Amino acid sequence: MLFVLWGIFALAACSGADHKKSAMETRAEMPAEPAGKVVKTDAEWKTLLKPEQFRILREAGTEPPNGDVYQEFKRQGKGTYHCAGCGALLFSSDQKFDSGCGWPSFYDPVKADNVVMKMDTSGGRTRVEVTCAKCGGHLGHVFEGEGFKTPTDKRYCINGGGLKFVPAKEK
Ligand code: FE
Repeated sequence: MLFVLWGIFALAACSGADHKKSAMETRAEMPAEPAGKVVKTDAEWKTLLKPEQFRILREAGTEPPNGDVYQEFKRQGKGTYHCAGCGALLFSSDQKFDSGCGWPSFYDPVKADNVVMKMDTSGGRTRVEVTCAKCGGHLGHVFEGEGFKTPTDKRYCINGGGLKFVPAKEK
């Protein structure tokens, strides 16, 4: 009995620590890829997402530049980035680069079908918004022709708080 209690305690302590040390939601296993469009009400999203995830994904919020999530992004090794809302595969560390802009940057999505670009004229500027094709969640913006020495010269400037990171399994 004591042994069982100790096991439960150790498990709870371990998952708690795990939760604390990640600024970006991090999972050991790949989330299931949504089969089709994911449609939920704001009330439903609020029960599924943390407040910051809701603000970014559902209210087109922007996380502060150079924050904890970005610092963590820079330290992360190989892995894949999924929509924190619906789990759709969006980006991979293979297309990650250091743009120095303060937000996670990729030169291409890893699964182009899972991102949709939209014209965004908010704030008196014309930008191209990047959204999740499956749930419509706001991810960030894409900028082109800035002179980065990457294969596309595009900068997908993405809020790390709207992503879920799955580290690559060691081989
Ligand atoms: Fe999504």
